[in-house]
Amino acid sequence: MKIIITGGAGFIGSALVRHLIEKTDHHILNIDKLTYAANLDSLSSISKNKRYTFFHEDILNHEAISKIFNEYKPQAVFHLAAESHVDKSITDPISFIKTNVTGTANLLDTANRYWKNLSSTDQQKFRFHHISTDEVYGDLEDGNFFTELTPYDPSSPYSASKAASDHLVRAWHRTYKLPIIITNCSNNYGPFQFPEKLIPLTIIKVMRGEKIPVYGNGLQVRDWLHVEDHVDALYEVISNGTIGQTYNIGGNNEKTNIDVIHIICDLLDKKKSYPINGQSSRELIEFTKDRPGHDIRYAIDASKIKKDLNWQPKRTFEEGIKETVDWYVKNYKNKEI
Ligand code: NAD
Repeated sequence: MKIIITGGAGFIGSALVRHLIEKTDHHILNIDKLTYAANLDSLSSISKNKRYTFFHEDILNHEAISKIFNEYKPQAVFHLAAESHVDKSITDPISFIKTNVTGTANLLDTANRYWKNLSSTDQQKFRFHHISTDEVYGDLEDGNFFTELTPYDPSSPYSASKAASDHLVRAWHRTYKLPIIITNCSNNYGPFQFPEKLIPLTIIKVMRGEKIPVYGNGLQVRDWLHVEDHVDALYEVISNGTIGQTYNIGGNNEKTNIDVIHIICDLLDKKKSYPINGQSSRELIEFTKDRPGHDIRYAIDASKIKKDLNWQPKRTFEEGIKETVDWYVKNYKNKEI
């Protein structure tokens, strides 16, 4: 297949590009605007592969994106391009609306116009896979889990913009019959994540002997999934999922933020060069004012994807986090950020 991936220089997109180039015979065209969150190093292992093409482009550029579709002639699209950091969405919400809402509408319109002109056999094979988040469902009480039928109740400009984009994707299916699939996934972790998010930020703060900022009491609960497990799920869904359906993807691995931070501190304390000055890394923890609108708990019920597509995560959090800490120590030791 020829596949377009948007946001393929980001954390999850680059893991998906690497996976598809290394483990399948598909041809990949990556469209990415290269914002601060992009990292072309994450693609260096595959960037010279003949089946890989990169386009430095903004999904808001309707004309350029249409040209790429008409010339490349994809059989599938994975749409990951987005502004993705909740804190940034609080200080700069409009860029989230532009990329996540208008950008998704542009892409849907382009994909739809392209798809309408395909032969009926090619139309049936085409897929538009929208990658979204469990944050669209909002806050969750203890004991409950998000299912695919949980009503949307987003709290931040980020999650509201992703919720809006999910609605647009469904509308393009209902109105135009564009063959779409949506996945809503929990928090990802793993190599090449930009160090603004909890796990890489904590690792790097400890490596530098700097304070680790923790919002509120740190008791917010998130479900963590290794990025390579997420990528396996995305490929399974686009290959075997049902058109028009939504699949929740999760790690069955709920942890409080403070527990995650403690695990990282303890792993780094076991390494020779950490902690700095012989103190325990946990001493670097500093509780700060809570994020406005901060959701207390997210937890995914991933039974549908398990039942329908036989997907479940392969890695335990214990293995995945140790591997991730080792990766950041190796790759970020002398790096300016
Ligand atoms: P990321 O911030 O690491 O990467 C986003 C990529 O999109 C970057 O390479 C950036 O340059 C690109 N991009 C941004 N605006 C663009 C534009 N206008 N045109 C073209 N490219 C643009 O994000 P991520 O963590 O890899 O997340 C990818 C997708 O998965 C997002 O849609 C996000 O909402 C979703 N998601 C993320 C998580 C998570 O834990 N990271 C969990 C669930 C869902």
